[in-house]
Amino acid sequence: MRLARFGPPRQEKPALVDASGRMRDASALFADWSPDFFQSGGLGRLRALDPASLPLAPAGARRGPCVPRPGKVVCIGLNYSDHAAESGMAVPREPIVFLKASNAVVGPDDDILIPRGSEKTDWEVELGVVIGREARYLASPAESLRCIAGYCISNDVSERAFQLERGGQWTKGKSCDTFNPLGPWLVPPDEISDPAALDLRLWVNGQQRQNGNTRTMIFDVPFLIHYLSQFMTLEPGDVLSTGTPPGVGGGMKPPQFLRPGDVVELEIPGLGRQRSTCLPA
Ligand code: ZN
Repeated sequence: MRLARFGPPRQEKPALVDASGRMRDASALFADWSPDFFQSGGLGRLRALDPASLPLAPAGARRGPCVPRPGKVVCIGLNYSDHAAESGMAVPREPIVFLKASNAVVGPDDDILIPRGSEKTDWEVELGVVIGREARYLASPAESLRCIAGYCISNDVSERAFQLERGGQWTKGKSCDTFNPLGPWLVPPDEISDPAALDLRLWVNGQQRQNGNTRTMIFDVPFLIHYLSQFMTLEPGDVLSTGTPPGVGGGMKPPQFLRPGDVVELEIPGLGRQRSTCLPA
């Protein structure tokens, strides 16, 4: 089962992707893949539905983010040991947690806007996790599993100068408009055989820059949800972006960053593919 959304920004309709990869309009049956949908067990209701029984979405419809604007996007920094090394930073003893403004979330093929004054806009392919049930003071990592609505691709676009050279925390370099292409699909956890064995790949202008696997994560998904739930309540519809493997532009020698006209493509097998073009903000 693959959940998607289509239509103009902020007016998307829910869709299911059929066996041929076409989006099917589910808006006659569901308002949206909203927090209420997840909280009320909507994923269970979807199981009885054959996507082929739904009308096709209009040909060429824009693909929206796979969930509506989240209440929060929680990101994990330096969660791959090999990425920590390329960043010249120590492997953290506890997860590095930061927030990304939720209005950075856009569709998987939407343009990435290079912020005004930016010289160091960078890419980060990540496994995204959408929360399906409230996670508050979970007793163990095993309890995390029931709180996961599904997995998706998350590009944690980052402006390194804003993030690292302008003082304070990382939020300034993570929250610019369009800095979180999300989707194209949300795939429920029972359809991902092992979230700790997923390839993550990213290309810039057709040249592969990232080629990692979630098996080299320092803190895995169940650990992270349990950990975060000790500090904040994760709510249905919230997004967790779990960190990036090596190969970011800032780690290249010499460093390389995104320019207007560049095309960024991301892929996680089973979770689909993104393709964004960079434009000036
Ligand atoms: Zn990241």
